[in-house]
Amino acid sequence: MADKMLKFVKVGLQMPNKREANLRVDDFKEIYDQYINEKAKEQSSRCSQCGVPFCQIHCPLHNNIPDWLKLTAEGRLQEAYELAQSTNNMPEVCGRICPQDRLCEGNCVIEKSGHGTVTIGSVEKYITDTAWEKEWIKPIKVLKEINMSVGIIGAGPAGLACSEELRKLGYKITIYDRYDRPGGLLIYGIPNFKLEKFVVERRTNLLKQSGIQFQQNIEVGKDISLDELKQKHDALLISTGVYKPRDVNLPGHELKNIFPAMKFLTASNRKGLGDKVEEFENGLLNAKNKNIVVIGGGDTAMDCVRTAVRQNAKSVKCLYRRDKENMPGSAREVYNAEEEGVNFIWLSNPKEFIGEKKISSILVEKIKLGNLDPQGRKKPEPIPNSKFELKTDMVIKALGFDPENLPKLFKNENLLVTQWGTIKINYKTMETSIPGIFSAGDIVRGASLVVWAIKDGRDAALAINKYLELKQKKNTKAA
Ligand SMILES: Cc1cc2nc3c(=O)[nH]c(=O)nc-3n(C[C@H](O)[C@H](O)[C@H](O)COP(=O)(O)OP(=O)(O)OC[C@H]3O[C@@H](n4cnc5c(N)ncnc54)[C@H](O)[C@@H]3O)c2cc1C
Ligand code: SF4
Repeated sequence: MADKMLKFVKVGLQMPNKREANLRVDDFKEIYDQYINEKAKEQSSRCSQCGVPFCQIHCPLHNNIPDWLKLTAEGRLQEAYELAQSTNNMPEVCGRICPQDRLCEGNCVIEKSGHGTVTIGSVEKYITDTAWEKEWIKPIKVLKEINMSVGIIGAGPAGLACSEELRKLGYKITIYDRYDRPGGLLIYGIPNFKLEKFVVERRTNLLKQSGIQFQQNIEVGKDISLDELKQKHDALLISTGVYKPRDVNLPGHELKNIFPAMKFLTASNRKGLGDKVEEFENGLLNAKNKNIVVIGGGDTAMDCVRTAVRQNAKSVKCLYRRDKENMPGSAREVYNAEEEGVNFIWLSNPKEFIGEKKISSILVEKIKLGNLDPQGRKKPEPIPNSKFELKTDMVIKALGFDPENLPKLFKNENLLVTQWGTIKINYKTMETSIPGIFSAGDIVRGASLVVWAIKDGRDAALAINKYLELKQKKNTKAA
């Protein structure tokens, strides 16, 4: 098949007329689809059906991976899709962006035996992309409408998964979000080269067609209060994510051209979505021809360096205070970034931003790793007299995120939070300290993963349904 593709590509190098060109695009697609289909089958048939599904155990959704791999290997794609979607509201999203090396694939028995993992994520993506293409995915048909409504604050993966599960049961759902588009970090955080935006829009459009109401550009706490929403709905879910960027308050922090990661990524994503982004057009948030330094070692930092590479930066460097082995981000992402030419400066910490009005360099101190800290990670310790200067035109700070002060923002001090500012819930019922208000996703866990947000959203839907059934019973008894 690869030979056939190569031959075809060579033929495609001749100058075709328009009709021929169209034919070739179609032919190429057919051959490509066939090739991918064979690859998916080949990968799926590598699953040993080992009987101890470590992959399934380590998938937060406990997807029935061995069974849908078997169905794919047998060419029973529609059944494979039905099984994959029964535990996951967005298999095509997880297939693209889960850090599989830390989850399912990292625990594949074949990987453990040194023969390379079955590429579970790619198969999951393939099955679901095929399901979309073949129109097997349809809007929800509610069998019996329930005259109760749920308000969901935040249209990220946690809110979307919860809304879909509750809509299937017949509840009326309204989602409120302060952004102009639904999707949360799937739209404005994660870059297009990892997760194409049409994939997210296809999902949210399906939810709209399923009767879920979306109210965009509504910031709860500013445009409408939590108490007002509580009056409007029978139950509420808070799934607002975590957005307060962690900062380094160094001398020179006020200099121009130092940006938080989300500002840089949002501008790039908006541009990709076709919006007019003035700060990108005028060059402020565009890495083109600049020497970029990204500070941080997590997945957000990797997204920033890889976005800067795609914007044709002159050079891209990543400063991280630990070494490669101790990076919090996915090893696969670091590998990708290195392959794309990103220069990692391990074991180094910024001490001062230098420049006149604009940043021109960073004073950096070298670090060695010392004893273990209370979390079991080696403590970074500065090496005396090791400072050096690093030239830069633009600095992007990707040091992680904390929750905003929700009780203050929502003007409701009865909403209890933990010492980290995440919302306190009863893990059995997913309910917050305010009866009838539930919470899920990053705002409960702290910055985490899409697959965990989906899992939490699904759990919250079960809990809300239980709560509303009980409420309905009480109301009927009282009537
Ligand atoms: C740059 C970046 C890259 C990432 N890459 C990956 C990855 O590759 N793989 C992965 O698994 N995870 C990744 N993550 C993490 C993942 O995106 C999050 O864990 C996930 O999106 C959390 O989902 P959520 O629904 O809890 O919150 P979010 O996705 O953050 O959605 C919250 C929504 O709530 C809305 N909101 C907030 N406050 C209010 C308010 N007051 N009123 C109304 N609406 C409000 C926001 O506008 C937003 O739409 C990444 C995160 C970042 C920042
Ligand atoms: S949801 Fe994520 S962890 Fe689970 S099988 Fe899919 S890619 Fe793996």
